Amino acid sequence: MFQSRRIDMHVHMVGNGGEGSGGWLRLKGWHRWLAGFMLRQLGVPASALEGDLEQIYSEHLVELVRASSMDSIVLLAHERVHDPDGTPREDLGSMFVPNDVVLGLAEKFPEFLAGVSIHPARTDALDELERCLEGGAVLMKCLPNCQNIDPSDRRYRSFWERMAAAGLPLLAHTGGEHTVPIINPALADPKLLRFPLECGVTVIAAHCGTGSGAFDRDYFDDWVAMLPEFPNLYGDISALVSLNRCAHLRDCLRDPKAAGRILHGSDFPVPVLGHRLWLQGWIDRTTFRRCQKIGNPLERDWQFKRALGFPEETATRAAGLLRR
Ligand SMILES: [Zn+2]
Repeated sequence: MFQSRRIDMHVHMVGNGGEGSGGWLRLKGWHRWLAGFMLRQLGVPASALEGDLEQIYSEHLVELVRASSMDSIVLLAHERVHDPDGTPREDLGSMFVPNDVVLGLAEKFPEFLAGVSIHPARTDALDELERCLEGGAVLMKCLPNCQNIDPSDRRYRSFWERMAAAGLPLLAHTGGEHTVPIINPALADPKLLRFPLECGVTVIAAHCGTGSGAFDRDYFDDWVAMLPEFPNLYGDISALVSLNRCAHLRDCLRDPKAAGRILHGSDFPVPVLGHRLWLQGWIDRTTFRRCQKIGNPLERDWQFKRALGFPEETATRAAGLLRR
């Protein structure tokens, strides 16, 4: 039955360590405003940023999943920035969601699947990987450009090989990013993922390499060009129903090389805005209004994609890839 489950495979856990998880949230300027905005449009008061955010957020989220077309979601931890020698940089980055937070929530709620996050340069990276495998992790998520990870670094061979042997896919952010501070923009390049792919890891390029703003480099064509060479390479269409990242959404549907490699993810709590899909004539006004007024952001994102023509398998495909 798991094989036919509809899964949103890209949902962020957000927390402030209020329950003693060890996590933290450090928001300044634009990022603080953005976080408050995201929470308010989900119906969570911005004051939750100072309160017991983990609990408020996870209980709100599980209700959204139950009220949506999705059977489950992959809930993502968020690793800290590290130097290439493995030194954690607590002074950089905007949040830390420890793996135990998502492993614990996945145990508590059957709707949640644990997406852990481990910087492969950590001195305890392999031990942490084993611990997460035992805890039931279904994938490993990282943001190379924001967490300072060069996936092509040959020192990470044993880490990638262990992931491949365990059947744990890598979900790696590709393309620009505007909700988390960037440490090294060059690490947004999907071509750096050739090394984990060659080590046998199933790799999902989050956002299919698309740019996030007008001045970002766009790597969509680089990602597409890698698909024939690597049958273990996929891409997710998370955050693509948006004002800034939607340019290639229809290409994901139309490019014959991409067919069969696209996975549904929402990137919740990133706002779901379908205005440009309508303004570009991809959907009509009635469809736009019907979808945009759906109050549940998880469902709104999925319905926009269905309206564009993404098939049912876009949401069920992940079930065959995630570690069980
Ligand atoms: Zn994301």
